[in-house]
Amino acid sequence: MNMDFKRKLAIPMEVKEMYPLTGTMSAIKEERDAEIRKIFSGRSDKLLLIIGPCSADNEISVMDYLERLAGIQEKVKDKILIVPRVYTNKPRTTGDGYKGLLHQPNPEDKPDMFKGIIATRKLHMRVIRDTGLTSADEMLYPENYKYLDDLLSYVAIGARSVEDQQHRLTASGMEVPAGMKNPTSGDYTVMMNSIHAAQHSHTFIYRGWEATSQGNPYAHAILRGFTNSRGEHRPNYHYEDIVRLCDAYEERPALKNPAVIIDTNHENSGKDPLQQPRILKEVLTNRRYNDRVRRIVKGFMVESYIEDGRQDVNGGCYGKSITDACLGWDKSERLIYEIAEEL
Ligand code: PEP
Ligand code: MN
Repeated sequence: MNMDFKRKLAIPMEVKEMYPLTGTMSAIKEERDAEIRKIFSGRSDKLLLIIGPCSADNEISVMDYLERLAGIQEKVKDKILIVPRVYTNKPRTTGDGYKGLLHQPNPEDKPDMFKGIIATRKLHMRVIRDTGLTSADEMLYPENYKYLDDLLSYVAIGARSVEDQQHRLTASGMEVPAGMKNPTSGDYTVMMNSIHAAQHSHTFIYRGWEATSQGNPYAHAILRGFTNSRGEHRPNYHYEDIVRLCDAYEERPALKNPAVIIDTNHENSGKDPLQQPRILKEVLTNRRYNDRVRRIVKGFMVESYIEDGRQDVNGGCYGKSITDACLGWDKSERLIYEIAEEL
C-alpha cells in the first residue's frame, strides 16, 4: 500500500482503562438511556431534542454551550429530553476541510489521531461529569465506536454512510438508538433497508474479531432533506413526507419501534439555520393533525451553537460553527421554551 503506517494506536480497552467511567457517570447514563428507550418504544410522550453544534470544535465553547443547555434541561424536563450533539468526527463532501476533533484536537494544528482519540473520549466524559447529560455523536468510522460505546446515548449514521454495510452491521450491535439518515439522494428505500439491517443480528468482522451482533430494535429513521439530480436542496419534513414514511414502515411490519427524528438543518433548511424554529414548529403543528404522524415523530435534531451562522476555521469568533451554520444561543433557548409550551 502506498501509505505510511506511522504508529500503532491504543485499542479501546486500553483507552477505557486510562479514562474509565465512574460509577456515578454510568448511573447517569443508564438512567438516561432507559428514558430514551421509553420515548422510542412509545412508553413516554416526551419529545427527544438532539441539539448542539454541527461539530464540537473547541472544548471551551462547547462546554460553555452545554452548561447553558443543562440549565434549560432542568426547567423543561417534564416535556423534553435533551441529548446534546457532541459531534467529534465530520464527514466531508469532497474530503477537504476540518474533519473534527478526532482528527484535529486543535482545528488549526496538523492531524494527530492519538491525541484525537483521547480528546474525544475526555470530552464525552466531561459532558456527563459537568452537565449530567449524555451525548449524541455520529458514527463516521464504525471501528472507533468501541472507544465511546460506554459514553454515548444516541448515535447517528450519516447521510453519506447509511448505505454502507459495516455501518449497518455495527449499528446492529449497539445498545442505544441508532438514527439512520436518509441518503443525500433522499431515497427512502436505502434508509428503510438500513433500518432493517440494523435491527437484525449479524456475524461479521469487527476490529479483528469474528463478532455476532444482537440486532438493535431502536434503529430508526432521520429525515434530513436531500439534493435532487439537478443539485437543488429539497426538504422532507413536510406532512406528506412523514405520512409517506409511516406508509414505508407499514410495508415492513417486522420493523420494531417505528420512529423518526426530523433534522431541521442540512437540506431541510436549505442550509439556512435560522429556518430551524419554523420547520420544527411546522412539524409540531402537523403532529396534531394526524395520530400516525404524532406517534412516529419522536423528536428533532437541531444544529445550534452560541453564535448564529458559520465562519472559516481560523475565523476567531467564539462559539461560532466552523462547519455547518448553526442557530445561535438566544434563538435556541427561546425555541426550547416555545416547544415546551406547545407540548
Ligand atoms: C451532521 O449531522 O452534521 C451531518 C453531517 O449530517 P448529514 O449526514 O445528514 O449530512
Ligand atoms: Mn451539520
